[in-house]
Amino acid sequence: MSTTTTARWTNWGRCASATPARVAHPRTVDEVTDVVRTAAASGQRVKPVGAGHSFTSIAVTDGVQLRMDALSGIQHVDRETGHVTVGAGTRLRDLNPALHALGLALPNMGDVDPQTMSGATSTGTHGTGAQLQGIAGAIVGLQLVTGEGSVVTVTPDDPELFGAARVGLGALGVVTALTFACVPSFLLHAREEPMLLGDVLGGLDAMVEDNDHFEFYWFPHTDRALVKRNNRVPEATERKPLSRARFLLDDEIMSNGVFEMVNRVATRQRSWVPRLNGISGRALSAREYTDWSYEVFISPRRVRFREMEYAIPRAALPEVLRAVDAWVDASDETVSFPVEVRFAAPDDIWMSTGYDRANAYVAVHQYHQIDYRRYFEGVEAIFQEHEGRPHWGKLHTLDADVLRTRYPRFDDFASVRDRLDPHRTFANAYLDRVLG
Ligand SMILES: Cc1cc2nc3c(=O)[nH]c(=O)nc-3n(C[C@H](O)[C@H](O)[C@H](O)COP(=O)(O)OP(=O)(O)OC[C@H]3O[C@@H](n4cnc5c(N)ncnc54)[C@H](O)[C@@H]3O)c2cc1C
Repeated sequence: MSTTTTARWTNWGRCASATPARVAHPRTVDEVTDVVRTAAASGQRVKPVGAGHSFTSIAVTDGVQLRMDALSGIQHVDRETGHVTVGAGTRLRDLNPALHALGLALPNMGDVDPQTMSGATSTGTHGTGAQLQGIAGAIVGLQLVTGEGSVVTVTPDDPELFGAARVGLGALGVVTALTFACVPSFLLHAREEPMLLGDVLGGLDAMVEDNDHFEFYWFPHTDRALVKRNNRVPEATERKPLSRARFLLDDEIMSNGVFEMVNRVATRQRSWVPRLNGISGRALSAREYTDWSYEVFISPRRVRFREMEYAIPRAALPEVLRAVDAWVDASDETVSFPVEVRFAAPDDIWMSTGYDRANAYVAVHQYHQIDYRRYFEGVEAIFQEHEGRPHWGKLHTLDADVLRTRYPRFDDFASVRDRLDPHRTFANAYLDRVLG
């Protein structure tokens, strides 16, 4: 196993950083147990890190940082059940084409793919779809190394461990492998079009229920939204991907190149933002295409930002958006990023935002060179009035006292943590705050 010292680490959003005492690159489960036992014996802490795509400091450590890249790739495929076991450090962007080559796919995904499977699931990463759960909802088993260096296999036969470990916040152990229930590869027909926000909210229930994956982006300071409906189509349907020219124009030039310039202007001429948002809202034109699921879910994200996202009960969404609109109007904040709204089905994972509740997810973003704090605080107060549960990987200010009231199995999770990591080898300041 190779190790390095004092490598400065920074997350994607440039809002969390660390200088670990040591960086280890384990290649086997035995090497993981060695690192954990040695560190625990000397009172040092250990923290696996994925792609650094969490905005919170959940992956920060001053102890041993574990980079899981060598524990990656498909380890086993069960053709009958579609169950696929992967190394914890497998990146979504590598897994998707590898699954496709096997005729398989993940049932749902978020909107980017650099994350590791262990990082994405540990924080409850999700996509959109009222009948679909977050990525961790597809886990049917996992293996982890506990704080005392034991290797534990977690399956549905042990409901306590299974309830706790699928979204474990990196607090229970080092996940070394994960098994997912995959589905046959599927094509999605994507339909994107601008709409007025009032019309979206007026027809919300039907649009959420009638589409496999429904989401929309609302441009603050305006009444405009971009609506995306992705629906599964029969296998025999002709694949009609976006043309390269259209992809370059919409996804690279407009959504990244022009949007980066808009944001740079916004840092100096903040009063221009409402007008620029109005232009962006009008500039987006309708488009339709059909492609493999993972090609449709993913969009390039080159404009760097900070993000907060809360899950709220679905029925509260119109009221929450009206309150956010009123807050933005009443404040002198200018917001150049659209507010992203998605939906997901309830699950039974104790620390998942989807635990026992059908949610709408509302995400707010701010350009990385603009101070996000006042905007996020203003909006977070609105989410708090509606039993909001924050995404573990996205900025928020809640602590254990409040979170205990949001998660019915919070204390049960704490008991499992006491059992698997009694000496808090995997703790850090973020976990101290959110778990106590
Ligand atoms: C541009 C961008 C787009 C995003 N889009 C979405 C989206 O569509 N939907 C959504 O829900 N989220 C989204 N996110 C958030 C992101 O998916 C999560 O924060 C996710 O955790 C990042 O995965 P990662 O591999 O980078 O993990 P990291 O951020 O590096 O780590 C996250 C946590 O996982 C733990 N961890 C990592 N590996 C292991 C392991 N082997 N064992 C135990 N614990 C481990 C870490 O210790 C840490 O606690 C986005 C983030 C960005 C920056």
